[in-house]
Amino acid sequence: MDERPRVLVAEDDRRLAEMLRQLLEADGYVVVLAHDGQRALHLAMSEDFDVLLFDRGLPGREGLDVIEGLRRQGNTVPALILSALGNPADRVEGLTRGAEDYLAKPFDVDELLARLRVLRRKTAEPSGGLPVPGGILHARRHEFVARDGAVTPLSQRENDLLALLARRPGQVFSRQELLDAVFADADDTGVVDAYVHHLRRKLGRGCVHTVRGVGYALGALS
Ligand code: CA
Repeated sequence: MDERPRVLVAEDDRRLAEMLRQLLEADGYVVVLAHDGQRALHLAMSEDFDVLLFDRGLPGREGLDVIEGLRRQGNTVPALILSALGNPADRVEGLTRGAEDYLAKPFDVDELLARLRVLRRKTAEPSGGLPVPGGILHARRHEFVARDGAVTPLSQRENDLLALLARRPGQVFSRQELLDAVFADADDTGVVDAYVHHLRRKLGRGCVHTVRGVGYALGALS
């Protein structure tokens, strides 16, 4: 299997897209290009990526709209927005709407590569999986592997919910945040409680910790 990191580049300026492709390939990435927002959304939903690099002004659907849509669907692949709009208000909007980082055009090539590396380090699933109380979550395979080696398959939603918590150990998520990130098609936070219940039944009570009056966090890692 190809172990190189995969990046989805959404950029409608074809010369810039091609330049980015060469640059990223030289830095060790497998690069997939999209030239409009719809295509970028489709690719990001249907293929596995380690990082997203999106232009903001895209035909079809604006880059930030696509990122926002992905987050609502529970997609947590880290995203860097490239934009001609570089004032503080635009940056804040980008970060608020689901991008992890924001770089104004024209950009410095080395800075772009460095920021992508940082993003991947911060949020990428370590090849050994994500630590969860009692074992390891292999989010890409939708499997929990207990310390004794027992493998428990997880449903898509169980996997997405646990992966979201496990990528930010110690962070408390409100039920609404979890609803928005993982269950975009539902509007009742009761579904979050139901899935926490499923996870606890499958993986043990300690896998998810209830923070009374606030929400949920990953259980304490031993
Ligand atoms: Ca553009």
